[in-house]
Amino acid sequence: MDDGEEVPFDRLLIASGARPWLPAIESLAGPGIHFLWTLEDADRLNEEFLPERRVAFIGSGFVSMQGAWSACSRGLKVSVLEAMPRILPRVLDAKGSALLEDAMKRQGVEVRVSVGIERVERLAGGRLRILMACEGEPVEADLIVVGAGVRPCLEFLQGTAVEVREGILVDERMRTTAPDIWAAGDVALGPSVFGEPHASHALWPTAVEQGKVAGANMAGQGLVYRGSLNMNVAEMFGLTVASLGRCEESGKGIVRKEMHDRKAGRYVMLLSRDGVPVGGVVVGVPEDLAALAAVRPSVRARREAQSSPGLPFADLHRRLAHSFAGRS
Ligand SMILES: Cc1cc2nc3c(=O)[nH]c(=O)nc-3n(C[C@H](O)[C@H](O)[C@H](O)COP(=O)(O)OP(=O)(O)OC[C@H]3O[C@@H](n4cnc5c(N)ncnc54)[C@H](O)[C@@H]3O)c2cc1C
Repeated sequence: MDDGEEVPFDRLLIASGARPWLPAIESLAGPGIHFLWTLEDADRLNEEFLPERRVAFIGSGFVSMQGAWSACSRGLKVSVLEAMPRILPRVLDAKGSALLEDAMKRQGVEVRVSVGIERVERLAGGRLRILMACEGEPVEADLIVVGAGVRPCLEFLQGTAVEVREGILVDERMRTTAPDIWAAGDVALGPSVFGEPHASHALWPTAVEQGKVAGANMAGQGLVYRGSLNMNVAEMFGLTVASLGRCEESGKGIVRKEMHDRKAGRYVMLLSRDGVPVGGVVVGVPEDLAALAAVRPSVRARREAQSSPGLPFADLHRRLAHSFAGRS
């Protein structure tokens, strides 16, 4: 503890979660710079979101986009600045992002992608100016909301036997590399549904399930975590936006099926590998969410197989491809 006290343990669970990441942008601190992470952050922004004010969002993840939609519907002038070549880059493919961007622009939001922000300047009267590293017009704003992703809270593990990379490495039983220490939730890198040994999806259901597995195993049971996957659904800018599993993959055996009506603002994409559905994207209307149900049987089969240790992943995929053969 920081007061010098030591708390002994027989078994320890690390569930310290994540915190918002502050990108390396000069002077991105101080008055007018906000996060949208805690209830207090939301309360503070609630007071600041006044009509006609200008707000810039740095990053376009789900949390940031919810904030941008809220600001837009309250009459603020909104800019969204994204370092990657498209918005919601981790959960949407290019066509899904483009449709969402169309809707945002129609509602008056300035969307800028592939930006490299260098520094923030303070102007007279408290205004802020965001300057780009290369060419690109600066963006002026009354407030900036940083929504550039999260980083796990791990500093206190320095110098311990717990192996960390971008999170704590855990096995399928949520055990870390150190004896009698388990980890779960946003801080942990555990098995994914698709066979990666160390993935992070930073989602509530993942944290809950991993916590249950870790707790049971700490009490002497032998539960196996069945793997995490990307799953998101939200309403924003008048569109239902959802993705499940993989949404961008290329290579041998990959087939994309899509329904794309840019004018009507509807996009459904399903991705399969060797005939086995592996993911999908919906941007448009809630009725289209039903399409993602096509991915569920294979996800369920993968998750069930994860709890049968010893089955090689390649073999699992081959068996799934066989059982999905002939289905359209
Ligand atoms: C604004 C927002 C919206 C979200 N929306 C969704 C959503 O729609 N769907 C979804 O699935 N997920 C969502 N999430 C993500 C979800 O909340 C997290 O995945 C989940 O809370 C992770 O649980 P956790 O127990 O691992 O960590 P947390 O819930 O973050 O809990 C970790 C706790 O540990 C504490 N802690 C950290 N370091 C230490 C330390 N050194 N000592 C003691 N305590 C410490 C922290 O203060 C915190 O209280 C959202 C998150 C945010 C912030």
